[in-house]
Amino acid sequence: MRELLPYLKLYKKHWFGLSLGMILGFLTLFASIGLLTLSGWFLSAAAVAGLTIARETFNYMLPGGGVRGLAMGRTAGRWGERVVSHNATFKLLTDLRVYFYEKLTPLIPGRVGGLRDADLLNRLVADVSAMDHVYLRLVSPVILSILGITCLTGFLVWFDSDIGLTLGAILMALVLIWPLLFYKLGKGNGHRLTQNRADLRIRALDWIEGHSELLLFGAEKRYREKIDQAQMALMSNQAVNAHITGLANALLLLANGMTLLLILWMSADGIGGSVPSPLIALVVFATLASVELLMPIAGAFQYLGQTLASARRLNEIIGAEPDVQFPTYTNNKVIGTNNKVAVEFSDISFAYESNAPLAVDNLSLSVPAGSKLAILGKTGSGKSTLLQLLTRYWDVQQGNIKIGGQALTELSESELRSLISVVSQRVDVLNGTLRDNLLIAKSDADDSELAGTLSKVGLEYLMDAPGLDQWLGDGGRQLSGGEKRRIGIARAVLHNAPILLLDEPTEGLDRSTESQIMSLLEQHYQDKTVVFVTHRLVGLSKMDNVVVLEQGKLVEQGEHSELLKQKGRYFQLHQAI
Ligand code: ATP
Ligand code: MG
Repeated sequence: MRELLPYLKLYKKHWFGLSLGMILGFLTLFASIGLLTLSGWFLSAAAVAGLTIARETFNYMLPGGGVRGLAMGRTAGRWGERVVSHNATFKLLTDLRVYFYEKLTPLIPGRVGGLRDADLLNRLVADVSAMDHVYLRLVSPVILSILGITCLTGFLVWFDSDIGLTLGAILMALVLIWPLLFYKLGKGNGHRLTQNRADLRIRALDWIEGHSELLLFGAEKRYREKIDQAQMALMSNQAVNAHITGLANALLLLANGMTLLLILWMSADGIGGSVPSPLIALVVFATLASVELLMPIAGAFQYLGQTLASARRLNEIIGAEPDVQFPTYTNNKVIGTNNKVAVEFSDISFAYESNAPLAVDNLSLSVPAGSKLAILGKTGSGKSTLLQLLTRYWDVQQGNIKIGGQALTELSESELRSLISVVSQRVDVLNGTLRDNLLIAKSDADDSELAGTLSKVGLEYLMDAPGLDQWLGDGGRQLSGGEKRRIGIARAVLHNAPILLLDEPTEGLDRSTESQIMSLLEQHYQDKTVVFVTHRLVGLSKMDNVVVLEQGKLVEQGEHSELLKQKGRYFQLHQAI
């Protein structure tokens, strides 16, 4: 149950709506039980009065009015309770989603690297939704039934203490037994249901995402069958749930029927020691109505297992510590001089997993402010990793990195982001308009600046109608690999930070576009510190320093011409490409 604590704490903020919902729920219960009790008594009392002289004096109007009032009160109360408590729970879920999302983002990419997108989506949607059970199905019904039982017992004790206390004891016992019994019965199935629901979503998303690939390789049918299997598993869990709910309700009705018999037997000789009177009907109908107090919790606790499983899945994310933590303070020290910023790597080492080989191995390198560095190396030699360490995508395990003389770990996230522009190896185009895709790099840029940048990177044709409003990504225009790359370069140009990291920016472009992009970058990075990862040997003579990486180690560095003269690794690479 400790798993639920973080969610119960969230109730504080919405206490008003949640308490109001509970008060309305209580009034509804009061009206339903009162309605049956009063009508039971009213009918018998009216019948008895009809047979005696009391028919002259019996007040039909007041109880009649009471019955009407309670009937209307029950309907209005139920409506009000649903509106108020659902409104409060939906607000609670909104907060919970935002809270979950805030906890999730710093975990990317390190901690959640092992989780599938679909699994995360399932946690964000289904598991968060399952948390509404905690209030609607567990907390509120339990409080209401305990309160209701106490009031009903008190009311009946007023007429006859034996009957009142007996009914109260039986109801309390049922309130304790049913949740325990049905929690145990539903627990295993609830866990499996949560798991199978996640599984179905993962398989369905897999199928949608890879649909064209699956069709081309004739594997679509196999994958669809897996979805069907996952669906069947989920449906069988739901069937078990329905059976358990049915059983809980049936047993409760049976218990209620037996209690009714007992109370009838106890009250047959008269209520409170008096002769038999219409009060018998009042007590019996109150017993009959008492099932209303228990119905909401009868089947609810079988969902507790499911809710706990969801809470556990959410806690895995909420409780995880991010691998990379930025300081929260902002450090206003001026970094670098004349907008130029130096970068220094000292003895850094990094491995993706504790037992994986080092992706960067004891590397030291300094990039003076405003200088241009090219990094070369075979595929998998750690070039992209080195850039990612500079952007704190990951943190080094040994050594340290300094930007403008200041340790990377001391910069706040916004400071670091404002210092670095990146064109990464794989540019992601978001599902959104072309404008949205560019504004992520500079949120206050106006349309003319965006259009100007697009034409600089040779994408001016994207400005044809509908121009910047054009939808990119899913459900919109798809871009080729080279176009995506140029969108990445446009973003870096817009961001205009003093450090520019380029991870193979011209890969996949034809020669003429490549030289156009290179000359644009040269203009753009004149007074910037540049780290340029490349496989292509274009423009290397213009670099101040060239380094060659091999299995995460720095094996050679120097100027282009010097390195060529040395006839070492760089020379070999030059020959090979
Ligand atoms: P390329 O020229 O192909 O882009 P690279 O020099 O950029 O190669 P990196 O991407 O830095 O190479 O990868 C260095 C090593 O780290 C490789 O062995 C790679 O398999 C591994 N690696 C990269 N990313 C991850 C990751 N997210 N998790 C685990 N290992 C990774
Ligand atoms: Mg790479």
